[in-house]
Amino acid sequence: MPALVSADLGFKREILGRGAPDLTACYQCGTCSVVCPISTADNPFPRKEMIWVQWGLKERALGNSSIWLCHQCATCTAYCPRDAKPASLMAALRDYSIQHFAVPAFMGRAVSDPRFLPLLFAVPALIFLALLASLGHLGRLPEGPVVFSKFLPIIHIEIVFMAAMTLSGLGALAGGVRYWRAMTLHMGGDGRAPTQALVPTVLGILRHRKFAECRSRPAGTRQTFKEHLHPTHLAVFWGFLGLVATTTSVGIGIYAFGYLTPWPLWHPVKILGNASGVAVVGALLVFGYRRVADAERAGKSTYSDWLFLVVLGSTTLTGFLCQILRLADARGAAYPMYVVHLVFVFVLLVYIPYSKFSHLVYRTTAMLYAASAPPANGAS
Ligand code: SF4
Ligand code: SF4
Repeated sequence: MPALVSADLGFKREILGRGAPDLTACYQCGTCSVVCPISTADNPFPRKEMIWVQWGLKERALGNSSIWLCHQCATCTAYCPRDAKPASLMAALRDYSIQHFAVPAFMGRAVSDPRFLPLLFAVPALIFLALLASLGHLGRLPEGPVVFSKFLPIIHIEIVFMAAMTLSGLGALAGGVRYWRAMTLHMGGDGRAPTQALVPTVLGILRHRKFAECRSRPAGTRQTFKEHLHPTHLAVFWGFLGLVATTTSVGIGIYAFGYLTPWPLWHPVKILGNASGVAVVGALLVFGYRRVADAERAGKSTYSDWLFLVVLGSTTLTGFLCQILRLADARGAAYPMYVVHLVFVFVLLVYIPYSKFSHLVYRTTAMLYAASAPPANGAS
């Protein structure tokens, strides 16, 4: 019986506009799927994605776990005999899928389109300025040594973030469920939650097992220009977790033990926070440099790549600046810098489901699906 194929050529144009190369160069030799260190026999990639996008098979391409199972090692690009840059196509598909599965849809559009960037920053800026106005601190800084909680009490900040993060969490959950359903529809499976796969998948993510496999199973001796990916991603990942642990520990210290802020620099929690921040900034500098230096050989970076790097880097750097200005007792600069820092934290965390940071959600979902689902239909 002939299969009904629904082509969406607008989808192909969109993918090409997100850094994917001219797909007509690909002659479907399959080298890319063979050399990929983590592609599997029951769902090989990225050859099939090349033809799916050429044919405009949007739903099939987006409803596959492969786009997020790919860890962007660029081995396929290094060995493609036609320089068709399949790794860039996979990156463009991931970029598009974030917008495609976003709930609510307008947030996906807003975060992926540079025209909305001022609005994304204006929302938290107005919230914090309104809070300061209500406290009477807008034109008047607190007297005495710099203590940020005198300027913006922690409870006010927590209420803002708890409300915003609840909405953001619901958006992330809805996006993940939509992706899961798309995979179930196009790859098969019963759609049940994979509880038995949860622990090994999370442990694999914590250890960066797939990144390690990409590194330890080279197809040959060709340079991929992504050799830095495993250690740098590991540094950003654990550095970010260290910053989250620092913030959480401060919250516990204040509410459970009544420890007032600021805490001294020698405090173990402060040491953890500063070491984590250094790890994040160092790794981001490597990422940024390599994205510029290797653009022609490893594929160009997109707007969402840069937005994520800049926002994460700025969040960490403004955190450091707050600390330095507080220690220098520079009231006039420290308090405004604190507001700038909070705005970056908001943009980084609250927009997670719609930015490149959403790989936390979608890659985990794809890995869970791959660990629990039967061999994919139409995977050849
Ligand atoms: S992307 Fe390159 S390696 Fe992959 S199938 Fe096409 S031509 Fe072959
Ligand atoms: S970038 Fe790496 S993981 Fe992704 S498809 Fe290519 S070879 Fe496989």
